[in-house]
Amino acid sequence: MAAFETIAVRTQLERTQFQEHSTPIYLTSSYVFEDSEDMRASFAEEKERNIYSRYSNPNTSEFIDKVVQMEGAEDGFAFATGMAAVFSTLAALLESGDHVVSSRSVFGSTHGLFTKYFPKWNISHDYFDVNAPEDIESLIKPETKILFAESPTNPGVDILDLELLGNVARKHDLILIIDNCFATPYLQNPIKFGADLVIHSATKLMDGQGRVLGGITVGNHELIREIYLFSRNTGPALSPFNAWVLSKSLETLSIRLEKHCENALKVAEFLESLPQAETVKYPFLKSHPQYEVAKKQMRLGGNIVAFQIKGGLEAGRKFIDRLQMCSRSANLGDTRTIVTHPASTTHSKLSEVELEAVGISESLVRISVGLEHVEDIIDDLKKALQE
Ligand SMILES: *Cc1c(COP(=O)(O)O)cnc(C)c1O
Repeated sequence: MAAFETIAVRTQLERTQFQEHSTPIYLTSSYVFEDSEDMRASFAEEKERNIYSRYSNPNTSEFIDKVVQMEGAEDGFAFATGMAAVFSTLAALLESGDHVVSSRSVFGSTHGLFTKYFPKWNISHDYFDVNAPEDIESLIKPETKILFAESPTNPGVDILDLELLGNVARKHDLILIIDNCFATPYLQNPIKFGADLVIHSATKLMDGQGRVLGGITVGNHELIREIYLFSRNTGPALSPFNAWVLSKSLETLSIRLEKHCENALKVAEFLESLPQAETVKYPFLKSHPQYEVAKKQMRLGGNIVAFQIKGGLEAGRKFIDRLQMCSRSANLGDTRTIVTHPASTTHSKLSEVELEAVGISESLVRISVGLEHVEDIIDDLKKALQE
C-alpha cells in the first residue's frame, strides 16, 4: 500500500474528458440513466454508481476513499458534521433496549445524545472514568452493544489505551467505536488496536483552516452498510462542495500536523516552566499521566494543550481577555491558535459535579495550537499571563 502522504495527494477521481489535473466539484443532486433497465438495476444495487447525492456523490466518494485508506478501514460514509457522524453511527446500530458503555470524557454534544436523546428511545448508557478503564468490564451487561471512547479526550487531553479497549470489546463481543478527531488518521489509527469503527469531525484538523463542517465514519464493511442504509433514509450526507474542500485539505494533513505538533510541544514545555501554571497536560510531555500509552499509540502528541492557571476562574478569564493575537473561539484544529475556557463556554451546561467528573476544572484553559510562528504564540501567551 502507498504511504500516507502519497494516499493523501494521489487518491483522486477518474479524470473527465477535459483532462483536468485537479478534481472538479460535482455540484449535482442527481444522475441520469441510459434506459429504464439501467435505472432499475442501479436502484436494485446490481451496479455501483451514483443515483442521488443524498446516497453518494463523486466528491464525497473521493474524500471517503482517502480516509478509508488512511485509517486502514474497509469502507466509510461521510456526513454534514461530526455530530451527524456520531449520531447516525450510533442510531443506525442501536435498538430499543440496547446499552452503551462510554468514556465519561466525551464531546459535549455526544454527552447530550447519551443523556438527553437516546433515553427517549430506551437506549441506556454507563460511563467509565478515563483514569479507571479497568472498571469497564464491571459495567458491561447482556444488553451492552457498543463501547465508545475518544482519545485524546476533549478538552482534558486524557489518553485511553486503545489496545486495552480493543481487547475488552473482543472479549465481550462489543462494537468498539473511537472518536479519533483530536488525533486525525495521521497520528493514530484505532483500527490497528481493534476498533470496529472510527469517527472524525472533519471540521477540525482535517479541514484545518476553520472553513467547512464535515464528518466521517470508517471501518468494518457490514457495519458501514447499516450506517449507509440509515443515512440514505435520514439524510445527513456531506455536501459535495465541503467534500471537495476536505479532500483538498487532506493533501496537506501530514505536513500541517507535523508543524502543529512541533508548535504544541513547545507551547506545552513553555507553560510547564511557568510558576502561574498549576498543571499542564499534553500527551507527549513526560509529566502526562498516560505518556507511555500516548507514545505507544500516537505518532506525535497532537495540537491541543490543556492547562490550569493558578487563581481559578477569575485568573482564567483574565488571561483569555488579555490575549492580543490568539483567537477567542470555540473551534479547534485551525491554522490560527485558539484559546477556550470550557467551564464558561462549551461545557457551561454541566454542573460542577459533572465538570469534575469529566476532568474539567473551572480554571482549565484549552489551547488549540496553530501554525503561526511558535515564538509569536508563546509571546502572546506570556504577555497575557503577566501581572
Ligand atoms: C467537534 C467535535 C465533534 C463534533 O463535530 P462537529 O463537526 O462540530 O459536529 C465530535 N467529537 C469531537 C471530539 C469533537 O471535537
